[in-house]
Amino acid sequence: MRVLVAGMGKSGYGAARLALAMGHDVRACDSLSAEKLAVALEPLEAMGLQFHPETESPLLLEGVETVVLSPGFPRASALIREALKLGVPVIGEIEWAYRHAKGRIAAVTGSNGKSTTTTLLGELLSSHYKDVRAGGNLGVAFSDMIEGSTDETWFVLELSSFQLESIERFRPDIAILLNITPDHQDRYPRYEEYQEAKGRIFKNQTASDFAIYKWDDPLSERQGKRAASRLLPFFNGLMEGDGAFVSEKKAWLRLGGKKELLFGLQALPLPGAHNLENALAACAAACCAGVPAELLEPALKAFKGLPHRLEKVASFNGVSVYNDSKATNSDAVLKALSAFEAGVILMLGGKDKGADWMSLVPEARRCCKAIVAFGKARHRVESAFAGQLPLYSFATLMEATPEALEMAEPGDSVLLSPACASFDEFKNFEDRGDKFREWVKAAIQRPRRDGREG
Ligand code: ADP
Repeated sequence: MRVLVAGMGKSGYGAARLALAMGHDVRACDSLSAEKLAVALEPLEAMGLQFHPETESPLLLEGVETVVLSPGFPRASALIREALKLGVPVIGEIEWAYRHAKGRIAAVTGSNGKSTTTTLLGELLSSHYKDVRAGGNLGVAFSDMIEGSTDETWFVLELSSFQLESIERFRPDIAILLNITPDHQDRYPRYEEYQEAKGRIFKNQTASDFAIYKWDDPLSERQGKRAASRLLPFFNGLMEGDGAFVSEKKAWLRLGGKKELLFGLQALPLPGAHNLENALAACAAACCAGVPAELLEPALKAFKGLPHRLEKVASFNGVSVYNDSKATNSDAVLKALSAFEAGVILMLGGKDKGADWMSLVPEARRCCKAIVAFGKARHRVESAFAGQLPLYSFATLMEATPEALEMAEPGDSVLLSPACASFDEFKNFEDRGDKFREWVKAAIQRPRRDGREG
């Protein structure tokens, strides 16, 4: 079969490699030249790949029997419209891999919390099953995960709305929709289209599958309720009927009227109400997958979370330091702050993406003792917080970090949750978080100016 892979990022690369390994005649295209791609094409070219650094010519479609679409490649492009006009099937990379994978699938989508929940669910399943593979939008492309899979394999897939747009038959045994909040307005001018794309995770499910969704989010509930599978809403509180819920400081799953303990809330490894929701959804999914309930709490306790998401990077002299570099918008900062009672020294700044600074003020006044502004956006931070809280401002995060630590007293928390992109000083949010971690470690090894122990 002649296959055209449109878009050669990580997913396109995986799809092309899989197609070549299966003996297909594979063509790939991208608007970037081979040198500019993030992946090296040589190994695939050695397997027979023909790469074209252009995406316009209808000649690309000559003789093509299937187009495999990368999530970043626009469906609305002339090439894809032409393929559809010619009647050539266009499927996404997830659909492509699904058609060649063996085993069972738990899939996770939502506006926030996907990576955390996918990783946690992978670890919960690993406490009981031998062959568990987590990836998708996070880490490894699905096409690169399927080699050697058997009926015993469990896949845990993080899926973006872009990936869900181009599924056809993809049917996860367990599907989780964590939440829906406005995102990617550039790609979805109509909010409904974004919601529908998320809801596609349930599209092909049948009565033997499970649909897990956030009960107190009407948008998620609307999508979840359409599923033909068993409906398991989750809620951080008491709830009637089947689903995962919280009562008397314990998380429970009610399924077919039978109630089972998932975990005690004291076992939660990560702070914040949002992380309780992630744990509820992941533990409910693990239970549905057949993991014995008594294995859940120990596996949950052992979960370290992901770097750069409210990651505890140090604790010294009764002070805790958190790296939440992934929080690049104001909503994520609000979620982070909800995890704290008082004594937070909040570090805000970087490259402003149009954060709603004023929306942070009431929550910051509730739990923060000081604001440390840094980077290009510091003047915006200064305008929002002047007269509201003690405010300190620095040109760079490197200068701000030791100063923020110096301000902290026993019981306080220093929180980098910047509400901004990182590109004014760093390559990406990971680079910012990694540097922050290093500067924190270096600073706490130095003696403090006030003479207390570091
Ligand atoms: P994603 O993969 O969807 O971007 P992550 O697990 O990487 O999600 O978390 C990104 C940020 O979203 C975290 O720093 C946290 O502030 C916030 N977050 C995590 N889980 C949730 C949730 N269930 N609801 C709302 N916000 C969340």
